[in-house]
Amino acid sequence: MKKISRRSFMAAAAVSVAALALTACGGSASSAASSVASSAASSEAVSSAAAAELTTVEAGKLTMATNATFPPYEMTTDSGEIEGIDVDTAKAIAEKLGLELQIDDMEFDAALLSVQQGKADIVMAGVTVTDERKAVMDFSDSYATGIQSIIVPNDSDIASPDDLAGKKIGTQRGTTGYIYCSDDFGDDAVVAYDNAVQALNNGQVDAVVIDNAPAQEFVAANPGLKVLDTSYAEEDYAIGMAKGSALEDAVNKALEELKADGTLQAI
Ligand code: GLN
Repeated sequence: MKKISRRSFMAAAAVSVAALALTACGGSASSAASSVASSAASSEAVSSAAAAELTTVEAGKLTMATNATFPPYEMTTDSGEIEGIDVDTAKAIAEKLGLELQIDDMEFDAALLSVQQGKADIVMAGVTVTDERKAVMDFSDSYATGIQSIIVPNDSDIASPDDLAGKKIGTQRGTTGYIYCSDDFGDDAVVAYDNAVQALNNGQVDAVVIDNAPAQEFVAANPGLKVLDTSYAEEDYAIGMAKGSALEDAVNKALEELKADGTLQAI
């Protein structure tokens, strides 16, 4: 199983922001919003200078590709608004850069392609840093830790990652869950869906491997399902950009400032 090497590879960078990812669900939107507003006000002069130097897909805007079906990082409210940890973080970065945030919602694999094709400046969608992705796009410093978890029906005999052998596994299309499971258990064992939890509910698969933060929310909303305590893999989330993007330094600097002034933790 590859999870061991992944874990050791990721461990050092992940530690400092682990609490952030794991406690994010309970975060207060109002405190996040107010700290974003105050940091924006104090850096206004710097921002306009920075904006003048930055070339973006659309002038004056920071265009973010996402897939708003990944709570609490990005989700769509009943009234059609896109919100979440990634959205608040991107807003705070955009303000630091003196840009207006523009969000483009699409499928996850399309969001990854969007920056590679120069249609978006950044992709923020709980995107895991992998070597394969690094070959085709650049990543910012990591801003959170992700965990691949396993969702099963309450009465399942699957109790650990090893028990997935011989089972039908559902994953989200284009995600690391799909990549790891097909590597570990073979292509025939894994099916990619736009909504893998629904496939589990329908009995089409025996388990779903998916990021832990949305897993917890999906299980809370779907009685009869549970998340196993043993995680399948640990990962780093980062902001994806085109290879050689001129925005990379500015984005990393903004992230560093947002970590230092506590905005990221508040979000
Ligand atoms: N973290 C996973 C990945 O990068 C899944 C992200 C997602 O489904 N939005 O592949």
